[in-house]
Amino acid sequence: MPKAMQITGIEAIPVRLRLAQKMVTALGDPGDSVTFGIVKVSTDAGITGIGEISMFWNGGGAPLCETVRDLLRPALIGSSAFDISAAIARMDQAVQFSVAANPAKAAVEMALHDIVGKALDVPVYVLLGGRRRDRALLSKSIMVESIEGMVAQAREFVAQGYKGIKVKVGIDPVDDVAAVTAIRHAIGPHIVLRVDANMGWRSAKEALAVIDQLAPLGVRAVEQPLAREAIEEHAYIRARSPLPIMVDESLWGPDDAHRVIQAKAADLLSVYVSEAGGLRNAMRIFEMAETAGLRCVIGSMPELGVGIAACAHLAVAAPICSSRWTGPMSCASPIR
Ligand SMILES: [Mg+2]
Repeated sequence: MPKAMQITGIEAIPVRLRLAQKMVTALGDPGDSVTFGIVKVSTDAGITGIGEISMFWNGGGAPLCETVRDLLRPALIGSSAFDISAAIARMDQAVQFSVAANPAKAAVEMALHDIVGKALDVPVYVLLGGRRRDRALLSKSIMVESIEGMVAQAREFVAQGYKGIKVKVGIDPVDDVAAVTAIRHAIGPHIVLRVDANMGWRSAKEALAVIDQLAPLGVRAVEQPLAREAIEEHAYIRARSPLPIMVDESLWGPDDAHRVIQAKAADLLSVYVSEAGGLRNAMRIFEMAETAGLRCVIGSMPELGVGIAACAHLAVAAPICSSRWTGPMSCASPIR
């Protein structure tokens, strides 16, 4: 057993990337490029851990690099890299009341897992409880454009081997139904098809009207019909919907998961390592969902390679993932 090692340095490096494709959804268009962050945590034993700040929105990862440097770094220097729970508590004390800082905390926590894994010479999934599966179904998202363009995206992804497709909807209800109908006819009945409204529908009534039209198309789940705060409205929709309801934007950390579960607002939870605040919090949400009889998928920001690696370790170790509705993992980065 190696001796506990002290954290001696934390760096956060902004990384700007050009997007390989347009990313238009009901959330808007993030533009041609986005900034992420790479976090390096060093120790007195010479082991360095790497983490990633995955954040597509709210100015991307650059402001969160400052959060790491100015708030999280001073809270952790000198403490043990092995005491990950204590490090999470220190980070929560250093940045309170804001889930917006979760991707910064997640990057540091990811790096601590990397350090402990390297020190013990075990994969990170062992630190999360060990391997439960060897394979994870991937899903790819279709961005909003012309219906012909969306059908072309769907055909391309299926040709690439994806068994799950998620269609971005929520901008115009008529276009939503037309696009999903055309895509279903193009890809046939056997590809798992989900839709994601990204909070775009304007009311529970509008959402239910669209969902009723999507039901005959074999849509496996409807993601985030309404705004993040509309928990009660999602419970209302879920009680009346012929299709399973998934929450995404309504769910960042374990506190959000508790609220969603209590309100019976969803059948499925979309869990992000970044938004949850790290691997341990993501596992907590999976375990809360398991206890409540709900299923989870792993959502994608999307991430870069380090963030995808963290998602993959979570996918290996997490309790019951959703294969019935959608497959456990929807990581498919369009960033090159
Ligand atoms: Mg989503």
